[in-house]
Amino acid sequence: MISKEDIIKRFVSYVTVDTESDPESDTTPSTAKQWDLANILVGELKSIGMHDVTIDDNAYIMATLPSNVDHDVPVIGFISHFDTTPHFTGANVNPQIIENYDGKDIVLNAAEDIILSPDYFDDLLLYKGQTLITTDGTTLLGADDKAGITEIVSAMEYLIANPQIKHGTIKVGFTPDEEIGRGAHKFDVKTFGADWAYTMDGSQIGELEYENFNAAGAKVKVKGKIVHPGYAKGKMVNSMYIATEFINSLSRMETPEHTEGYEGFFHLYSISR
Ligand SMILES: [Zn+2]
Repeated sequence: MISKEDIIKRFVSYVTVDTESDPESDTTPSTAKQWDLANILVGELKSIGMHDVTIDDNAYIMATLPSNVDHDVPVIGFISHFDTTPHFTGANVNPQIIENYDGKDIVLNAAEDIILSPDYFDDLLLYKGQTLITTDGTTLLGADDKAGITEIVSAMEYLIANPQIKHGTIKVGFTPDEEIGRGAHKFDVKTFGADWAYTMDGSQIGELEYENFNAAGAKVKVKGKIVHPGYAKGKMVNSMYIATEFINSLSRMETPEHTEGYEGFFHLYSISR
């Protein structure tokens, strides 16, 4: 039996290792610190009794739970990533555990007045009465996707401890650098050897997605012409007006906040000089 406390302990042990990825890096993994958790995971997969636990030069981890049935069934895989997004710091994560959530605002950080509120994130109300794990407001939690890794490792541990549950061969794969769009780049699908696999990286319990999101990115550079404002007539070209013109030429309704389902959108991501 794996208790809730065991699972929380496992999750906290993962999120307290900083594994932020870095889009500016050319290496795989993009940050050396991702090895810290990768090596822990290899040890843990071995210690729970997984077979053929491997890690390659790019820190892609694979492991196998052998079939315990004597007939042929498809090989299925479970995949997750151990990096966290570079958008916010994943160092010094200090998880807060809230038992029996009452559905009200959660003060993550009183000193900095950081509140997690169902007024803003109404999904919180789905978890009223349950145990929530949050940050202290100053870092990422890293549940994306260390929750997925926790689920997979715990499920494997459970299956190993309960051989009366019959299953075919199960493959487990953990990858670096998903958050910077490179998680699948060096994933050796053939070696993994699953007939099909599930990425445990969703949002709500029971959700199953069988399609994937695709997008292309563009960087637009606007160059103006600098002239002293006193002598600017007919000469100055203000790049900020051109950038604004460009932005305004995109359909205002084709944006994430105005679209859903299969409707495409433009997502202005950042602007800087
Ligand atoms: Zn993810």
